[in-house]
Amino acid sequence: MTQLEGLSTEAIIERGKNVVMNTYGRLPMTIVKGKGVWVWDTEGKRYLDFLTGLAVNSLGHSHPAIVQAIQEQAEEVLHTSNLYWIPNQVALAERLVKHSFADKVFFCNSGAEANEAAFKLARKYAKEMYGDHKYEVISLKNSFHGRTLATLTLTGQTKYQKGYSPLPVGLSYTALNDLEGLKAKVNEKTAAVFIEPIQGEGGVIPCSKEFLQAARDLCDQYSALLIFDEVQCGVGRTGKLFAYEWSGVTPDIMTLAKALGGGVPMGAMLATDKVANVFQPGDHASTFGGNPLATAAGCAVLDIMLQEGFFTGVQERANYFRQGLEHLAQKYQTGDPIRGQGFILGWPVSKFGPEIVARCLQKGLLINCVGGKTLRFLPPLIVEKPEIDEALKLLDEVFAELWK
Ligand SMILES: *Cc1c(COP(=O)(O)O)cnc(C)c1O
Repeated sequence: MTQLEGLSTEAIIERGKNVVMNTYGRLPMTIVKGKGVWVWDTEGKRYLDFLTGLAVNSLGHSHPAIVQAIQEQAEEVLHTSNLYWIPNQVALAERLVKHSFADKVFFCNSGAEANEAAFKLARKYAKEMYGDHKYEVISLKNSFHGRTLATLTLTGQTKYQKGYSPLPVGLSYTALNDLEGLKAKVNEKTAAVFIEPIQGEGGVIPCSKEFLQAARDLCDQYSALLIFDEVQCGVGRTGKLFAYEWSGVTPDIMTLAKALGGGVPMGAMLATDKVANVFQPGDHASTFGGNPLATAAGCAVLDIMLQEGFFTGVQERANYFRQGLEHLAQKYQTGDPIRGQGFILGWPVSKFGPEIVARCLQKGLLINCVGGKTLRFLPPLIVEKPEIDEALKLLDEVFAELWK
């Protein structure tokens, strides 16, 4: 049962403005129900959700297996503490380890918290193994890694950092896919290189295989750790469980969040044994991290994604959607090609970005626009062709109205 039931959207917004901090430029709508690829607002209007709470509801809304896992766990115990062993947490860690490069997992509650943990582990590893001089961390321009002080400093966009100085020191930035630039940055003082294999908030910009491989080679040469932030592009989004699998380049540390809990807040930091062993009791912690409820949901998410044939279907339907977008980009001559992999796709448009998003909303399609000029699509991985056709039809209508 939702609170404030019976109130209009305007009334809810009015009350919200009085008491909720003004940190988001929120759209004037309230989603009160979701099922599969569909959501409904307070007024009962239905929308096709091609944004999934920003890559969170990857199996669609209220997936029966996730609902069941949460309900059953809620009746047993919701929270215990990491002072005790948590069976669901062990089971989820086993699944993650079995299907990735990693040997150990640390659980937390968000993407920023996972990246903060990775940052701390990398610093500690470098100091213990090589000495105090080795602490520099390199990340990419235009990246996004979160909103804590360390992760917003990692984030290579000054607009997120403005107003919060002094920021943590020892960080610097280099351009995505610029092999020479990266080479000029990495040296004996480098503790870690942080990379999103596909930049999400930065506009759906994939790293090339060559760039990831060069980063791997440079990190090996200078005993630095390669860290992949797969908070947005991981957990099935690209049509494989992890985005790095497409490149064949493996990191030393990887961070996850968004889709991992199927809508329940959860983050994770995965690492090889060599690196993970640096963390000893007391070195890092999180009260809620990997609690029984969140990890019950996480196990349900992975069990669905790891079913035989799941990703073959995702790749097939994602290609179908991509072709549809490419056709529209061609039809309206919007310029640069569609970017991304699987169901994280960006359509660069030189104009009207926010207006396109607003008109799609009116017609019942949820998408967003990053950096004012890239339409971003993050549909549920379970979306079928009829709903993809519906989304393409609505986009076609919007472009026909707007694009001259
Ligand atoms: C969303 C995001 C984060 C931050 O996650 P939060 O859960 O909002 O803290 C970090 N990295 C990437 C790549 C993201 O997309």
